[in-house]
Amino acid sequence: MKRILSGMRPTGKLHIGHYVGALENWVALQDEFENYHLIADYHVLTTGLDMSNVYNDTIEMMIDWIAVGLDPEKSPMFRQSKIKQHAELHLIFSMLISVDRLQRNPTLKDQIRDLNIENLSYGHLGYPVLQAADILLYKGNYVPVGEDQLPHIEITREIARRFNSNFGEVFPEPEPKLTHFPRLAGLDGNAKMSKSLGNTILLSDDLEAIKQKIRKAVTDPLKVRKGDPGRPEVCVIYSYHKKFNPADVPEISTNCQSGALGCVDCKTRCTNKIYEYLAPTLECRKELEAKPEYILDCLRSGEEKALQIATDTMNEVHEKMKIG
Ligand code: ATP
Ligand code: MG
Repeated sequence: MKRILSGMRPTGKLHIGHYVGALENWVALQDEFENYHLIADYHVLTTGLDMSNVYNDTIEMMIDWIAVGLDPEKSPMFRQSKIKQHAELHLIFSMLISVDRLQRNPTLKDQIRDLNIENLSYGHLGYPVLQAADILLYKGNYVPVGEDQLPHIEITREIARRFNSNFGEVFPEPEPKLTHFPRLAGLDGNAKMSKSLGNTILLSDDLEAIKQKIRKAVTDPLKVRKGDPGRPEVCVIYSYHKKFNPADVPEISTNCQSGALGCVDCKTRCTNKIYEYLAPTLECRKELEAKPEYILDCLRSGEEKALQIATDTMNEVHEKMKIG
């Protein structure tokens, strides 16, 4: 069976961008593939050194994963820092790619701009190299991610080829798997909904929270009041309707453009549809929050399974490289 490897950083509760861009695919693919899901705790360090919440955020993220339908039996979940082989493979891979190549990574350039990063760390520049180790340690064939991750998968493929041609065939060349919504825009109109930009709707938000957030969301700046003609294609709310309310999209488009539909009504409809979509997840979240031992059991068994595969892969690597 072909294998899937994908992960997320435990930096807080997940948002609907994570769901629409990646998680939805994780859930859909878990019967067709052997799935492994990484809690990328080392990667948290790329955007800040405060690790005080990392453990709580790990548990919260697992709750989100399980609440949306990931089955921990079929899809083992594990922490990157618990499986030391990630660090070792990262070191080896860091010799297989140039600094120049890493500096050309467009996702990194976006992050530097969005987060106003002035002094990029060596580790942040090498983020995709650690990610290559994360994927290839489990010989992942497919990586279901959002669009921002595509440059990283390309780097992973380059590293796999370089390793295989130098030392002998060990790694597959993984391919990305995108959903139909590979990049969900933020409430502020930014092209990407992102925790670090504070423009999110969380999977754990209740109806009231969603309502407040949508109320403040940016729409077409030229549509000031009901009656003004709007431009759906520049409106974030319209993009959410496309995902969460597809049946009404043609009507919303026509009535927004004619001015018959005002932003207030359009936002109320959007709020209700998003809430409808998230309601089962919220319900399941509540149940899981009451069972912390269950979450820890899932983590323990996931880490056992991951360690076994990581050990096997590194044995192969050592043998090919005549080290270790
Ligand atoms: P954020 O990007 O919100 O700051 P993060 O960087 O910690 O959070 P990652 O762990 O990098 O999140 O992303 C997890 C997965 O979710 C990746 O596959 C990423 O492509 C996907 N993803 C994140 N935000 C979006 C979005 N707005 N639209 C689609 N996919 C997204
Ligand atoms: Mg990210």
